[in-house]
Amino acid sequence: MSGAQSSGTELAAHDVLIIGSGAAGLTAALVLAEKCRVLVLAKGGLDGGSTNWAQGGIAAVLDAGDTFEDHVRDTMVAGAGLNRRETVEFVIEHAPAAIARLIELGVPFNAEAGSLHLTREGGHSHRRIVHVDDATGAAVQKALLKAAREHPNVTLLPGRTCIDLITGRHEALRYSGSGRVWGVYALDEATGRVEAHTARATILATGGAGRVYQFSTAPRGATGDGIAMAWRAGARVSNMEMMQFHPTCLYNLDVKNFLITEAVRGEGGRLINPRTGKRFMEFYDPERLELAPRDVVARAIDSEIKRFGLDFVHLDISHMPSDFVKGHFPNIYEKLIGLGIDMTTQPIPVVPAQHYTCGGVLIDLDGRTDLPGLYAAGECT
Ligand SMILES: Cc1cc2nc3c(=O)[nH]c(=O)nc-3n(C[C@H](O)[C@H](O)[C@H](O)COP(=O)(O)OP(=O)(O)OC[C@H]3O[C@@H](n4cnc5c(N)ncnc54)[C@H](O)[C@@H]3O)c2cc1C
Repeated sequence: MSGAQSSGTELAAHDVLIIGSGAAGLTAALVLAEKCRVLVLAKGGLDGGSTNWAQGGIAAVLDAGDTFEDHVRDTMVAGAGLNRRETVEFVIEHAPAAIARLIELGVPFNAEAGSLHLTREGGHSHRRIVHVDDATGAAVQKALLKAAREHPNVTLLPGRTCIDLITGRHEALRYSGSGRVWGVYALDEATGRVEAHTARATILATGGAGRVYQFSTAPRGATGDGIAMAWRAGARVSNMEMMQFHPTCLYNLDVKNFLITEAVRGEGGRLINPRTGKRFMEFYDPERLELAPRDVVARAIDSEIKRFGLDFVHLDISHMPSDFVKGHFPNIYEKLIGLGIDMTTQPIPVVPAQHYTCGGVLIDLDGRTDLPGLYAAGECT
């Protein structure tokens, strides 16, 4: 069955099985489909991952005044020097080509005077974030899904919750190591039946584990399933203590996980202590202020909240012209208006919340895990 969503239960053998239909899973599917038959399984709907929710945009060196060296340096600083330089360089040097591919697939990144519009985010010394208004991820997800649906070598099966990897346990016993991975057992959410899907190679692209926290900006399905499956099968998992907290999640007791993109600070938004009415980042990072890396800003907000016994701090961009704010952040503006906050005239109450799982399945630069036949990509790595 080609390029369509299968609702049947036929378990045709595929060359490659991909678990997850976010940016990582679908990008891998489209590249591999040029050479082999690919099956993509997803828990719930095909757009249920974090990719669809991403707001601010994607960082890449695209401006004439910017350089790979600067982007690498900014990233090493933001990672407090704990990053593996080789990986940072690999990702940064491949980013412009990845953006070009997304443009080819039809992602309508904002442009200004004939060039891509680049916004700014914390930790970046240059403007280097391409975006589609303030809903970049939805545009990326839509374009990737369209291309995957149209590709004759890609089969998409939503509604499959993958449970455990199929491993060659006899091989593990024989070689006293971990066995090869041959596919996955998946629950068909409609029928309640467990299916076995086999393939020569299996790629985990299951996203992060943010929803193990009470307050997270991630969607409900971000429960670290792929990381757990890899671990149970015998692959190494690393740095799971490295959780990124986004500084500015909307504080609202009914809407617990709405992110206010960092680009609001990038375009001039200020953090204010609602008790004193004053900006406070100058006490924590006098040079970079609101555009310090996320961990610095998140800790500063947490400190203000604790020191002053607050529930939240304010993010204020109301000093910028109303049309500028509405033009740059149309979706956030609409969402907040629905909640009774006009961000063109009022500050937004915000708190830090879990946002990105930095650790995950250990891979090399080709996406290989410890187990033969098992690869991983995206936020689960
Ligand atoms: C609110 C928000 C805003 C963000 N904004 C930005 C931004 O502006 N810029 C940026 O670079 N990053 C941003 N991020 C981070 C970025 O969106 C993610 O890191 C990235 O999209 C992850 O892509 P992925 O393909 O690895 O995983 P996801 O897009 O999360 O996809 C995971 C897939 O795996 C599937 N899955 C999970 N478990 C199973 C299972 N057991 N069985 C079958 N399928 C399963 C899911 O259904 C989904 O299809 C944001 C994240 C959030 C939450």
